[in-house]
Amino acid sequence: MEERQHDLVVIGAGPGGYVAAIRAAQLGLDTACIEKASALGGTCLRVGCIPSKALLEASHKYQEAVTGLKKYGVLVGEVSLDLARMMKHKDKTVTTLTRGVAGLFKKNGITGYKGLGRLAGPGVVEVDGDTPMRLKAKHILIATGSEVTSLPGIELDGDRIGTSTEALSYPEVPQHLVMIGAGVIGLELGSVWRRLGARVTVLEYQDRILPGMDAETAKLAQRMLKKQGLEFHLGARVTGARVEGDSCVVEAEGLEPIQCDLVLVAVGRKPNTEGLALEAVGLETDSRGRIAVDEHYATAVPGIYAIGDVIAGPMLAHKAEEEGIACVERIVTGYGHVNYDAIPSVVYTHPEIASVGKTEEELKEAGVAYNKGVFPFIANGRAKAVGETEGQAKILADATTDRVLGVHVIGAHAGDLIAEAAVAIEFGASSEDIARSSHAHPTLAEALKEAAFAVDDRAIHS
Ligand code: FAD
Ligand code: NAD
Repeated sequence: MEERQHDLVVIGAGPGGYVAAIRAAQLGLDTACIEKASALGGTCLRVGCIPSKALLEASHKYQEAVTGLKKYGVLVGEVSLDLARMMKHKDKTVTTLTRGVAGLFKKNGITGYKGLGRLAGPGVVEVDGDTPMRLKAKHILIATGSEVTSLPGIELDGDRIGTSTEALSYPEVPQHLVMIGAGVIGLELGSVWRRLGARVTVLEYQDRILPGMDAETAKLAQRMLKKQGLEFHLGARVTGARVEGDSCVVEAEGLEPIQCDLVLVAVGRKPNTEGLALEAVGLETDSRGRIAVDEHYATAVPGIYAIGDVIAGPMLAHKAEEEGIACVERIVTGYGHVNYDAIPSVVYTHPEIASVGKTEEELKEAGVAYNKGVFPFIANGRAKAVGETEGQAKILADATTDRVLGVHVIGAHAGDLIAEAAVAIEFGASSEDIARSSHAHPTLAEALKEAAFAVDDRAIHS
């Protein structure tokens, strides 16, 4: 087996791994990255963030053409769906971006290895690929991400009972799709297929959708999504699903068995450590399969680090990226830090749901006194002009210091608006700082400025 030496070997080329590799190369490390899949970019680029957003946008355009343009005085003739072309658009987007990562590797002088990366002792990784390799490195970064998971009693058949991966490529619009889980995937992909004409039933174990998100915002979201035709059953713990003849049957506590033609299991993802041979270096995973790290992403084994979905924390692409950068900067410069209070989270439904910082529930539980400012989109001039009046912006600020602790927005382009709030939290801004910063008129961002004024009961337009 050929043997090579690098300063850093990264295992996994998702947003955590490939970004870490690029930053390490920028900092002068001789860097290699091993990826087992045929394309770079990880879950995010291949079967996650990017293809789902391509389909969300395309399905939204379709739905607008069908029902939404009349109010603007735009009359279109008969609208029809070319699903194959929609999928082609999605696939092309994915290919362009995954090739883009390959281009970035080349530009930054990163050596890519195709194959399964396996720990073979301290400072040694073997690549199980077409050309087996033995790589020696002072530093090893595990960025192997996460993979789909299911529930006991439900066997994924990769066809009719599947996960987000299958739901990104259904060859035709199902008549009736049952989503198990009202988390991010359930709502995003449920929205896609609802817009394209499917009946969509969402079964959720908890008594609310989007567990963990701000409860008031999640409640508003549920109301809006219900209006769009998604059917919700809350408090419905799914206990089984099976294929029966031409259809599927889903069983949930408190409900009659539901017949449908496709089932999408979206009950979370599991850290991916399969094939890594953690035992070869004495590394163990916790009860949820995650690799334990300290605040600098160092594992219990010197020289081995881990970041992204394979460690604790929200499974988000930008969280993985921040960790990758902080980890390699710490290795090279001695500094590197991620502020987990300033990591935003966005659900790309229509309208979008975005948040950063603490929820009201978290503040109450921690006994932190806060003031709350809410501003409805219906009172925002731009929202009126563009016909996107659903939603609200909410700012939670410390009752004593006025420091912004949490921001929750549901409304058009909330995912872009939340960037301002993340910067505010990162800089330790007060709600007064946001209120006193000039926001261009007419923009949706003015809703945030007004919510900041509302913290102190001074909103101008409501
Ligand atoms: P991954 O992206 O999972 O990458 C890990 C890589 O490692 C993979 O390419 C895998 O093939 C490779 N690998 C694993 N083991 C080995 C091995 N032993 N050897 C070699 N290679 C290996 N997040 C967002 O922030 N925004 C979104 O809009 C969003 N949408 C999503 C939509 C869907 C449908 C899904 C499923 C996820 C979405 N996510 C989103 C989550 C996001 O994709 C993940 O949080 C992110 O990809 C994690 O990055 P990562 O680098 O840790 O791992
Ligand atoms: P999730 O954790 O967001 O939601 C899973 C849902 O399934 C929860 O609401 C849970 O209560 C429910 N559930 C669990 N067991 C159940 C049962 N037996 N019956 C009924 N409901 C049950 O997970 P997900 O939606 O699968 O997403 C996986 C990961 O991917 C998430 O961590 C998410 O952060 C990430 N993701 C992010 C985005 C984004 O940022 N826009 C988009 C998609 C996915």
